Amino acid sequence: MPNLETVVSEIVDEMRQRPDRGEVARYIPELARVDPGQFGLAVIGADGTMAAAGDCDVPFSIQSISKVFTLTLALGMVGDKLWRRVGREPSGSPFNSVVQLEYERGIPRNPFINAGAIAVTDLILSGHQPREALGEILRFMQYLAQDASITIDEAVAASEQRTGFRNVALANYMKSFGVIDNPVEYTLGVYFHHCAISMTCRQLAVAGRFLAHSGRDPSTGLSVVQAERAKRINAVMLTCGHYDGSGEFAYRVGLPGKSGVGGGILAVAPGRASIAVWAPGLDAAGNSHLGRIALERLTKRLGWSIFGE
Ligand code: GLN
Repeated sequence: MPNLETVVSEIVDEMRQRPDRGEVARYIPELARVDPGQFGLAVIGADGTMAAAGDCDVPFSIQSISKVFTLTLALGMVGDKLWRRVGREPSGSPFNSVVQLEYERGIPRNPFINAGAIAVTDLILSGHQPREALGEILRFMQYLAQDASITIDEAVAASEQRTGFRNVALANYMKSFGVIDNPVEYTLGVYFHHCAISMTCRQLAVAGRFLAHSGRDPSTGLSVVQAERAKRINAVMLTCGHYDGSGEFAYRVGLPGKSGVGGGILAVAPGRASIAVWAPGLDAAGNSHLGRIALERLTKRLGWSIFGE
């Protein structure tokens, strides 16, 4: 079996030499400004050994990767009742698509497309002030990443809020079907802010460990969620974590994964490792272009695909 640290540093070198980087997200200036030449990778194994290289300590906007953690938190609050509000089928559509909501009576296809994540955020918000709900989400991230310095990038959140017309439309449309309980501006305020959490690859890899180890953080032995719940969150990540590119990601990488338009991907190798990669350039489906290629190489070299060697 090749050495993990060697594989990680080889992949970082290979990715840095590639001319094809994809396009950084341009819908807000804060993301459009990010240097597409950056690349970070961090892998934390079952025994706590971290192999990390490249720009693995540069914070980036986690964007939709936050949806894994809001789903986890909401399931903890309302349990499987959550699935009355949100489906768990792949959408085969872009992350901000409106069309399917009409056919499904305002119920989003899954918790990882924007509509689904907004509905999940609304569940977390119920019974709280927006500030409390957001504090809860941020503290959960800090707890999982074992790092109290993790913050929200307020400039990113403000830009999202100023330009998020499609998300406003999705929230209002769902509200018309009774799928959103709180005032849409409150729900969206919390949603835009959790998407604007900034983290490094190292922090994100640590935060994802419970998903790789049956719901437990192996460093403390503490249970974050039941094993069955971790298994199910992984299943939804595998089938829905990359929007319209979920099939391609499963085909090439073979791991549950969740992408964000900031160029990050959190991937889970069950029983083995939690992996975070960041390369800001995106492919046509809005997923990190080099991030996916790097993960494909990693799982191939280490034999980590859940589908076999
Ligand atoms: N904040 C972004 C949005 O709502 C998140 C999208 C993403 O990361 N795919 O549009």
